[in-house]
Amino acid sequence: MRDAQGEGRAPVLQFTNCRILRGRALLREDLWVRGGRILDPEKLFFEERRMADEQRDCGGCILAPGFIDVQINGGFGVDFSQATEDVGSGVALVAQRILSHGVTSFCPTLVTSPPEVYHKVLPQIPVKSGGPHGAGVLGVHLEGPFISREKRGAHPEAHLRSFEANAFHDVLATYGPLDNVRIVTLAPELGRSHEVIQALTARGICVSLGHSVADLQAAEEAVQNGATFITHLFNAMLPFHHRDPGIVGLLTSDRLPPGRHIFYGMIADGTHTNPAALRIAHRAHPQGLVLVTDAVPALGLGNGRHTLGQQEVEVDGLTAYVAGTKTLSGSIAPMDVCVRHFLQATGCSVELALEAASLHPAQLLGLEKHKGTLDFGADADFVVLDDSLHVRATYISGELVWQAEEARQ
Ligand SMILES: [Zn+2]
Repeated sequence: MRDAQGEGRAPVLQFTNCRILRGRALLREDLWVRGGRILDPEKLFFEERRMADEQRDCGGCILAPGFIDVQINGGFGVDFSQATEDVGSGVALVAQRILSHGVTSFCPTLVTSPPEVYHKVLPQIPVKSGGPHGAGVLGVHLEGPFISREKRGAHPEAHLRSFEANAFHDVLATYGPLDNVRIVTLAPELGRSHEVIQALTARGICVSLGHSVADLQAAEEAVQNGATFITHLFNAMLPFHHRDPGIVGLLTSDRLPPGRHIFYGMIADGTHTNPAALRIAHRAHPQGLVLVTDAVPALGLGNGRHTLGQQEVEVDGLTAYVAGTKTLSGSIAPMDVCVRHFLQATGCSVELALEAASLHPAQLLGLEKHKGTLDFGADADFVVLDDSLHVRATYISGELVWQAEEARQ
């Protein structure tokens, strides 16, 4: 808890000469920050009769809420699913390096693993605030092992599981304590999934549908039971069919609970989703679109051949191949690249492209009062971007945590 008096004594920062993303629009307004939060300047003038202690000229840049990546498997040579003794330092390295891509909080993601890996790794990834040390950890995203054999993708078949014996007890036995868990991706066609979805949702954990052969009816039932997210839409699910559009059909379903809409993750790296498919999803349901990187450990390693665990990977630009082949080895486009590609591929507004990486993931996680917004009272996590949406600087709690070389004086 921050005490009001202490906050009142904290210096007031005024970011000037900028356009800020607020209420779905880019406004020519200053951004005021105190004690790590966005401040209402009218209250400052009229109630406290104070001015800014420090002004920072933003050179005409855009200020948008910090990006939130709810699906990232690792990067910079680190694999979050590797059960080492020191998972924390790997998470810390990635947290630090993604600041340069405008990411201020994230959900480290574990792919299908045997129970002993979850038991060892999960306690080592606590929820953690962001700062100069790195982006904040919002909780872990567990993708699998309760997924479809047929649509498992790169997930190891030997470790897939079902709920059938004991439903939620199987989940707890597999993962261990769920304290650090924020999202679980599962296949809703698995028997007794409704019990599991209800139990996870009751604990405040977001249930996401993915790696699944569910038809639309099974997907709708899962949403009625509490699921709110679709993991990497189009990838690892049944393709759209007009008589049964499957999970994809949730975007335009009229059988969702009143007042609720579905969110869906999209990997907008130019490789994993065809631009036309991106446009279909965006036009059908723009407010549910959540940009995710789904990045693998090769993210940020640069061109050439790298050894990652048991695998040799060849990186060429924004594409990673299993070395010596043309088989894709996962996404390596950082979040800011995905934002720019999404904008260019869909022709959407700059505002929507930025919200797909900030407001929408915050809404998905129920954090929209604090994160993904520059409204008064929200955490002052934001990214400074030029007109082409390249990151110039990143702030967490009002503190500069990363700055582009050319922006330094
Ligand atoms: Zn996946």
